Amino acid sequence: MEKSKKGKKPYDYLVVGTGIFGAVFAYMAKQKGKTCLLIDKRPHTGGNIYCDSINSINVHKYGAHIFHTANKEVWDFVNSFVEFNHYINSPLANYEGKLYNLPFNMNTFCKLWGVNTPAEAMIKLEEQRKNYADIVEPANLEEQALKLCGEDIYNIFIKGYTEKQWGRSALELPAFIIKRIPFRFTFDNNYFNDPYQGIPKGGYNKLTDGLLEGIEVRLDTNYFYDRDYFDSLAEKVIFTGRIDEFFGFEYGELEYRGLHFEHKCLETDNYQGNAVVNYNERKVPYTRIIEHKHFEFGTQPTTVITHEYPGEFAKDNEPYYPINDERNTVIYKKYKEKADQIPHLYIGGRLGQYAYFDMDDSVEAAMNLAKKELK
Ligand SMILES: Cc1cc2nc3c(=O)[nH]c(=O)nc-3n(C[C@H](O)[C@H](O)[C@H](O)COP(=O)(O)OP(=O)(O)OC[C@H]3O[C@@H](n4cnc5c(N)ncnc54)[C@H](O)[C@@H]3O)c2cc1C
Repeated sequence: MEKSKKGKKPYDYLVVGTGIFGAVFAYMAKQKGKTCLLIDKRPHTGGNIYCDSINSINVHKYGAHIFHTANKEVWDFVNSFVEFNHYINSPLANYEGKLYNLPFNMNTFCKLWGVNTPAEAMIKLEEQRKNYADIVEPANLEEQALKLCGEDIYNIFIKGYTEKQWGRSALELPAFIIKRIPFRFTFDNNYFNDPYQGIPKGGYNKLTDGLLEGIEVRLDTNYFYDRDYFDSLAEKVIFTGRIDEFFGFEYGELEYRGLHFEHKCLETDNYQGNAVVNYNERKVPYTRIIEHKHFEFGTQPTTVITHEYPGEFAKDNEPYYPINDERNTVIYKKYKEKADQIPHLYIGGRLGQYAYFDMDDSVEAAMNLAKKELK
């Protein structure tokens, strides 16, 4: 085991994973005079928020990322590393060649039903719902959605998209996946309700680089290839990889939905006029096309688009969306109890906590850990 001259281990913290969780923790630890070594199995820092620069366009390599938050402390914190632009996420939905605005708002209702006022839209929505009013306990996702929005919205926007996302028929999916469907009776296409939103000017790597400045990072380095050695380097371990893998899958594997991205460079300066266009039909195999330059109001002569395909998760692929059903929740709790009993270890981040975290959740969780840990 490596020891420093004082008999202590060389670092206060080994942080496994340079995603936003690990990077925020390491930054805060450094501010408190602690030493950190970060390792990541990928060839770059940033985890899922990493961007590749292709033809001077920041390409969100692991899926489109829009920063949005209601937490002023988190917003001020990220803005202290890089200025954010005024991008507002206003996705479109393509169904049988027709484009509709999302989230469901007066622009959507106007195109769908030809209604022009909120009162007309509410009447139409109530008419649609009325047909399913006798569903008291929805038995599956289809019944739940029909009860909440009626058949027009369900058939065009929800059915195909959700079935693609989960790889199963809506009749086989549990009702709890859709708790509520937000409707907006204004002409407002802003997808998020949070007061703060934007994309870092110059891309997310600026945020990661700012957080990790002056902190030692080793890339292409998998903790599991020599965990005894890595444990010997630091007094404590902050692990942001998969919690089930950490414990050798002892209680079974946690399940995920997989994703697959196909990036393409095109010789046009503007392919779809919007950063995000969803494809809601079941028969179209991808769920959305991202045109990355629009996140940063790019004026480059060419463009880069990404087709996003949902798919099964295989063990060696990247785990994307946790499947928080009963089986997985029980398994996760067992791992969490085990982790809590190890004093020099904290397992965090989206994979460590087996939760769908937005970026602001990850930042907040890492800040909270740092505040508690570094008092
Ligand atoms: C498709 C998609 C779209 C998203 N869009 C948004 C969005 O629009 N807005 C938003 O706020 N959030 C979005 N998110 C969520 C966002 O990606 C996460 O909140 C954030 O990246 C989580 O950060 P993290 O540090 O916890 O995990 P990660 O970014 O996954 O970082 C974990 C790191 O640990 C490393 N690692 C794992 N195991 C090991 C090991 N054994 N050894 C060494 N290194 C290891 C990984 O390589 C990785 O770099 C999206 C997520 C997905 C999947």
